[in-house]
Amino acid sequence: MTRHSSAKLTELCLAGLARPVALRRSPRARRLSLRVNEAKLGAVLTLPVNASLGEAGDFLARHFDWLQKRLAELPHPIPFEEGALIPLRGLGHELRLAPAKGPRGKVWTQAVREPSAGLNGATNHGATIPCSRPQIWLSGPQHKAAAVLSNWLKSQARQDFTARVGWHAVGLEVRPKRITIRDQTTRWGSCSANGTLSFSWRLVLAPPFVLDYVAAHEVAHLRELNHGARFWRLVRSAAPRVDEARAWLKDNGPRLHQYGAAH
Ligand SMILES: [Zn+2]
Repeated sequence: MTRHSSAKLTELCLAGLARPVALRRSPRARRLSLRVNEAKLGAVLTLPVNASLGEAGDFLARHFDWLQKRLAELPHPIPFEEGALIPLRGLGHELRLAPAKGPRGKVWTQAVREPSAGLNGATNHGATIPCSRPQIWLSGPQHKAAAVLSNWLKSQARQDFTARVGWHAVGLEVRPKRITIRDQTTRWGSCSANGTLSFSWRLVLAPPFVLDYVAAHEVAHLRELNHGARFWRLVRSAAPRVDEARAWLKDNGPRLHQYGAAH
């Protein structure tokens, strides 16, 4: 029995695999198991506490082809670095790093400049119309950049969720106790029995109608803590694009986990 029985032991980077494999020992595991974690962009091999590393190696070798294929299908991580394209509220923003002006980081956005009045794209007779992407600017020490941006994105997510939850709470006549913003890997939102609503900050990287649907979904749980017909009637009465939003999350949700990843 190891002292850190459920702690991550080590991360293996194996030749031929696109992503690392984390080894974990679990006191509950009865046999070795391997799964690909879309949120963490890697694989996890779980070992019973008494399994040897040799057994782990044999197990990996037996499932290598399957693992190689699944890992190659995962989205590539997009670290918060100069030039990264961050889909803030569903709109691609180019990340720009400004020189540090002080010890504290600062974040601001710059929208695309509108073409001057009177110009129109089709008949501009050679005039240059600025058409660069909107940008997110980040200043501060380089080593803090990723943390500063991720905090800023969380604060943006909190703003959006506070506004949308407030709106739906009035419509559905409920009073949420509190909103928490997290980096949930298995669910986009949740509602606890005591009325706390939790959301993944990554939804600020989805189009607004998707965040709105998730907000409406969790607020509706304050009336119906289940997924029955009455619950869905409430959600649909609050958010008009439920099916579209659910389809969007199914198709694009895993990709939201690639942003800010370290590798
Ligand atoms: Zn639900």
